[in-house]
Amino acid sequence: EQESTVSITVVGASGDLAKKKIFPALFALYYEGCLPEHFTIYGYARSKMTDGELRNMVSKTLTCRIDKRENCGEKMEEFLKRCFYHTGQYDSQEHFVELDKKLKEHEGGRLSNRLFYLSIPPNIFVHAVKCASSSASSVSGWTRVIVEKPFGRDSKTSAALTKSLKHYLEEDQIFRIDHYLGKELVENLSVLRFSNLIFEPLWSRQYIQNVQFIFSEDFGTEGRGGYFDHYGIIRDIMQNHLLQILALFAMETPISLDAEDIRNEKVKVLRSMRPIQLEDVVIGHAEIRVQFRHVPGNLYNRNSGTNVDRTTNELVIRVQPDEGIYLKINNKVPGLGMRLDQSHLNLLYSARYSKEIPDAYERLLLDAIEGERRLFIRSDELDAAWALFTPLLKEIEEKKMIPEFYPYGSRGPVGAHYLAAKHNVQWGDL
Ligand code: NAP
Repeated sequence: EQESTVSITVVGASGDLAKKKIFPALFALYYEGCLPEHFTIYGYARSKMTDGELRNMVSKTLTCRIDKRENCGEKMEEFLKRCFYHTGQYDSQEHFVELDKKLKEHEGGRLSNRLFYLSIPPNIFVHAVKCASSSASSVSGWTRVIVEKPFGRDSKTSAALTKSLKHYLEEDQIFRIDHYLGKELVENLSVLRFSNLIFEPLWSRQYIQNVQFIFSEDFGTEGRGGYFDHYGIIRDIMQNHLLQILALFAMETPISLDAEDIRNEKVKVLRSMRPIQLEDVVIGHAEIRVQFRHVPGNLYNRNSGTNVDRTTNELVIRVQPDEGIYLKINNKVPGLGMRLDQSHLNLLYSARYSKEIPDAYERLLLDAIEGERRLFIRSDELDAAWALFTPLLKEIEEKKMIPEFYPYGSRGPVGAHYLAAKHNVQWGDL
């Protein structure tokens, strides 16, 4: 059998994402022995740089995990020797032909597989895809392209982008990345749901009163206000990250763990939701929480003296920071009386697992190399996701609605509490 090789080209290698996430993730995969024996990494961007300068830039952001500090320097040297740089324009066939020649030299006649990571602003995605696919795709193996968000800004622009991409690529070559889907706890959501008898039968509206997906960051929007104003938190966080988690949370059991089976189930969830209406929304500036129903006729409500609202079970899955899962249960306070208290059955990852959790980009890059599409967003999923938010976004923009402000560190806008109350739900307080 012919030996194969993987060439990974980071398009936009001079940028922030490449430096902070992509090269460090590739190094971590190399250190873990997850990259194939024969691989080459190329940085591609317009900035003029030599191979040495790229290596120097990349070396500053590589790190080894705490449990892997041995041979760290040596491994970094080995890795950097496999990294190269090519200066070129994103819309120049000629420059991609030059890249192709260099890749071929490294591939040395082996079966060639090529992965392009588009880490560039969205207005040049299509130019780069056109040049990469026509002048630098593999002729003997696969060619895949990882695309970073934003995937359009509404249904129309997203569909136009997909159409342009499909002009040059087949669906199975497009890997739309949502780094939330590479997060450990999001991966664990399906394990938790489908391999625990105590949760699986309860995952229905019969037992769950409400589910809250709460996005909170431990920093304000300082310095990024411009970005969020222009693009909007709904587009940047809700339409993709939160909706993806919701689809994984709410989907029916897929036939198998095969990527297409999972993505089919996610599409069903998205398509069966009604587009979000303005009256369902509180716009504010800016974890998964499941509240179970009350135990019917709970014996202890009568004489516990505790607030009835506080006696339902809650399951909290904290994706970031401080990954953890806990279940709020009712417990008897020790002593001669009968007083109930809510306590936590707590799985704090840092206490249970001494291993550092791999960065989401590591998992996703490895999946793209291995052709595992489960955690990437298919075109019809993206269409369905935009269809939910586009009418709302249009209305907000047309009416020039002003977001409700709330203090940094608080539990969100007051309106969110009213909205929750309308549905008989208690908001926040993790
Ligand atoms: P970036 O630094 O702004 O851009 C990456 C590279 O693209 C730059 O180094 C520059 O390289 C080139 N570039 C920038 N503006 C350009 C323009 N107007 N025309 C042509 N080339 C241009 O972006 P990034 O932060 O690395 O992010 C890359 C992509 O990932 C973006 O699409 C972004 O939306 C997405 N993304 C980023 C993050 C993040 O955390 N940074 C998170 C999610 C998604 P040269 O000048 O050398 O060609």
